[in-house]
Amino acid sequence: MIQGSTELVAIVGSPVTQVKSPENFNQWFAGHRQNVAMLAIDLAPSALQNFVETLRGWQNLRGCVVTVPYKQLLAGRLDSVSARSAALGSVNVIRREADGRLVGDIVDGEGFLSAARQQGFNPQDKQALVIGTGGVGSAIAYSLCQAGIRHLVISDLSAERVEMLGELLRNTFPETVISANPTSLEHFDLVVNASPVGMGATSEEGPLPLPQDLMQSLQASTLVADVVTSPALTPFLAFAQGRGCAIQTGPQMALAQLGNLGHFMGVTPLQI
Ligand code: NAD
Repeated sequence: MIQGSTELVAIVGSPVTQVKSPENFNQWFAGHRQNVAMLAIDLAPSALQNFVETLRGWQNLRGCVVTVPYKQLLAGRLDSVSARSAALGSVNVIRREADGRLVGDIVDGEGFLSAARQQGFNPQDKQALVIGTGGVGSAIAYSLCQAGIRHLVISDLSAERVEMLGELLRNTFPETVISANPTSLEHFDLVVNASPVGMGATSEEGPLPLPQDLMQSLQASTLVADVVTSPALTPFLAFAQGRGCAIQTGPQMALAQLGNLGHFMGVTPLQI
């Protein structure tokens, strides 16, 4: 029950009917007897600037999760953002400080890493492939570099995106080897599909984000992850499972990220 004394967090996007954060957060708040609640806000683009001003003055609001289409649009309107948000030009969470200042970060990559660490993956000195260099893929690539990966390979249908992200990562993490477009999957410790390929697939025979001949070089020792949340077992993950690989699903990443989002807003511990 929301009361006058309840502290609020929000998630803003458009549309928001599909977002899972309100039920996940509200279940956690209720289960841990926290007088905090999350609201979902479906915001019209024309209201964005007024919304930012409202956030500054909203005194019982601790923070706001940001989803499509506002991750990039809000990044430039806040009072300060993390180094990775500034580099990637994107935020997925905002904290409202007591004086009304708005601080942003992007924790998609950290959520991904939290899930991977939960299954024993340590990025230090490893080799990884990230397929898809959009909002989520670039955040995962950035966090992997920040966490000490030795060699990162990125790929995307858009050569321009690969080039831009490659340049950003090489400049920010000179100690990490960054390359593009793998010719074999043999030496990777981690392969991540961060593209939407497989979203909505109704059978394990659906589309794969890499050509079949490349998929055939996948080794059982590789951790294979997907960011797609529906279905949880994408055709890519089903293929990997069939080759004996450990897998990490999109819902596992989303669940692990709750702690990163809640901790940044000051309403949950980092690990929940
Ligand atoms: P985006 O549109 O910003 O980026 C997608 C990228 O994938 C684009 O650069 C596109 O060119 C590339 N791409 C498409 N097909 C490809 C292919 N066959 N090979 C290589 N690259 C390809 O999208 P986004 O915001 O990064 O979201 C990506 C996915 O992540 C979506 O399915 C979204 O639902 C999911 N997502 C999951 C979580 C989670 O917690 N699990 C969180 C946010 C988003």
